[in-house]
Amino acid sequence: MKVTDHIKKANGKTLFSFEIIPPQKGRNIQELYNNIDPLMEFNPPFIDVTTSREQYIYIDKGDGLLDRKITRMRPGTVGICAAIKHKYNVDTVPHVLCGGFTKEETEYLLVDCHYLGIDNVMALRGDAMSHQKYFEPSKGGNHYATDLVTQIQNLNCGKYLHEVIESDHKSDFCIGVAGYPEKHMEAPSLQADLRRLKEKVDAGADYVVTQMFFDNKKYFDFVDQAKKAGINVPIIPGIKPLAVKRHLQVLPQVFKIDLPEDLIDEVEKCKDNKQVRQVGVEWAIKQSEELKKAGVPVLHYYSMGKSDNIKAIASQLF
Ligand code: FAD
Repeated sequence: MKVTDHIKKANGKTLFSFEIIPPQKGRNIQELYNNIDPLMEFNPPFIDVTTSREQYIYIDKGDGLLDRKITRMRPGTVGICAAIKHKYNVDTVPHVLCGGFTKEETEYLLVDCHYLGIDNVMALRGDAMSHQKYFEPSKGGNHYATDLVTQIQNLNCGKYLHEVIESDHKSDFCIGVAGYPEKHMEAPSLQADLRRLKEKVDAGADYVVTQMFFDNKKYFDFVDQAKKAGINVPIIPGIKPLAVKRHLQVLPQVFKIDLPEDLIDEVEKCKDNKQVRQVGVEWAIKQSEELKKAGVPVLHYYSMGKSDNIKAIASQLF
């Protein structure tokens, strides 16, 4: 079922959902299930599964020289979506990237999703690879998320890349895209970024999931601004509980977001990361309660592969 249909069916009730990361190549999928199991009691109607960018790895050739290879360290997004859908009877949302894929490969991936009964996809550009300063589209790949949304929409209309027969089996993907309450790091201004978001929606995106934020005012202002810009699809807030002291530097650096002074003060007072985790959970509960009261359609949590803190939050709210 489509994410937007789950929202309609909930009839104003806030739903719970979360995002997981595929295991590292070679790791057991059981570890992932162990983190999903405790969250199923909160009835998530859908679970997102991220896709990782490729990265350089260095392999010792045995003669003291290193060989450089490009690889994806966490493959298996669509397979995991299918496995989870089957095991938990829940809808899954694979993240589909522009970066690292040709349009042809994207089409194959979407065909797989269609045959597997996956009704939703999250269309994203992806970041630059770790050795790159700026994002570079793959040769023959989509450049911006809008281009990817257009490709998915074309497929929904039965338009394949190199049509050989007239399609009689159209997909009908519900398409999610990313939104940034504090603007995307490359955007010259929030208004310019909102115009780009509007382009994604006009191209066929059905809903938006936001980047993490720690000050709800940023989300509420963003939703207001988005409405003024003519964006009328659901905007789902993404919540990440802060978990380690290092997040005070890492999150602003990686995601270009601000942390509220009160939160910084509380984290700085903590003696160890166990205390930080507790502060992070309490902050996320406060944020979630206010968002739920404001009637957000879904509270979507970034689990980063760990579920104990998400469970602690969800048990206060759902
Ligand atoms: P876009 O919408 O393409 O925008 C990227 C930038 O380009 C923005 O600054 C925008 O303003 C600008 N822009 C857009 N169109 C144009 C145009 N035509 N001309 C000029 N500028 C333009 N990354 C992963 O690698 N894997 C994941 O699974 C993943 N999941 C995510 C989930 C969520 C909810 C969010 C918020 C982010 C996720 N990301 C993921 C990160 C995302 O890939 C990065 O933030 C990326 O840098 C931008 O992706 P986007 O889809 O927002 O890009």
